[in-house]
Amino acid sequence: MSGSGKVVCVTGASGYIASWLVKFLLQRGYIVRASVRDTADPKKTEHLRALDGAEERLQLFQADLLKEGSFDDVVEGCEGVFHTASPVHFVVHDPQADLIDPAVKGTLNVLASCAKTSSVKRVVITSSMSAVTQNGKPKTLNVVVDETWFSIAEIYKQSKLKRPNGYCLPFFICNVVSLKYVLYEELYKMWYGLSKTLAEEAAWKFSKDNAVDMVSINPSMVIGPLLQPTLNSSVVDILNLINGSSTFPNITFGWVNVQDVAMAHILAYEVPSATGRYCVVERVLHYSELVKIIHELYPAFQFPEKCADGNPFVPVYQVSKDKMKTLGIVNLIPLETSIKETIESCRKNGLVNF
Ligand code: NAP
Repeated sequence: MSGSGKVVCVTGASGYIASWLVKFLLQRGYIVRASVRDTADPKKTEHLRALDGAEERLQLFQADLLKEGSFDDVVEGCEGVFHTASPVHFVVHDPQADLIDPAVKGTLNVLASCAKTSSVKRVVITSSMSAVTQNGKPKTLNVVVDETWFSIAEIYKQSKLKRPNGYCLPFFICNVVSLKYVLYEELYKMWYGLSKTLAEEAAWKFSKDNAVDMVSINPSMVIGPLLQPTLNSSVVDILNLINGSSTFPNITFGWVNVQDVAMAHILAYEVPSATGRYCVVERVLHYSELVKIIHELYPAFQFPEKCADGNPFVPVYQVSKDKMKTLGIVNLIPLETSIKETIESCRKNGLVNF
């Protein structure tokens, strides 16, 4: 087993992606130090304690992204650190406190803990395609986005309150009225995108200044089976299409299976030559296409038939898989399988009742 006897740490271990990461690390023989915010909360820990190998090789630690030094004890003695903890909320009341501070300060806290100990050989951070795609260049069918693309924070800041029909809402309105309604469409994810862009930027600067060997994994929207007992935001986006809603959003996103994302993290740690960023995206498609796929898989479900606005569909683009393949990930789980696994897993866990 590749990880036999090696000690690694996973931050935010109770989360969707991190739970799969912990599972695969245990399967490979690693000793896993898993940080959660509340070790006494069974919803955050029971599914981890139940994993094969957990009894012998899983150690739970309490740590908070916003507390300086919180991760010192967790990473001390680890060879590898997987930093996945970061809030994933698409609707927020206080973007700075709810998203940006935990993402940016949290990443710097974890990296500072890593820089303090000589045991850490590599840090793999979970970034996002939202830190890649928003650089102002047009994205159309023949455009191939790759790891050389960096989102520009200012683009998020300028677009965050603009609705698709072009007018801006005063900031205070967004803080008082139903945010879900006001910030719907792709723009409602802008604060999240900004938090990931700023966090990745800060991480690269810190890792260079402090000679920390860091690699980032940049997945698109992540779906697939859930190990944790609660729903996470990206899976909710799929369920929103089958909950009786009459329209689908005019959005184009990339999608990828959670198991592929977890494995990409592990390979980014294990492959000695791994360096820089890795986009991990199975397919980019418009929501209209997503609805079609779900319709073919589940003809009996009720689907939104109309787009939420009358504008031309946001075009699809491509994301290069070339760099990801150098990690040894040649075939990603097809989106059709990921969608089916998502819905079946939610059904099995009683998270949906259709
Ligand atoms: P998730 O299930 O919501 O997990 C997020 C984790 O972050 C949770 O364990 C959460 O802990 C932890 N966290 C949040 N605030 C924290 C704080 N102040 N201190 C300590 N821990 C904190 O989300 P996920 O989808 O697995 O996302 C994991 C990572 O992947 C994130 O970095 C996210 O940005 C990135 N990502 C996700 C997607 C996606 O589509 N899901 C796509 C690209 C990148 P609690 O359980 O205690 O709240």
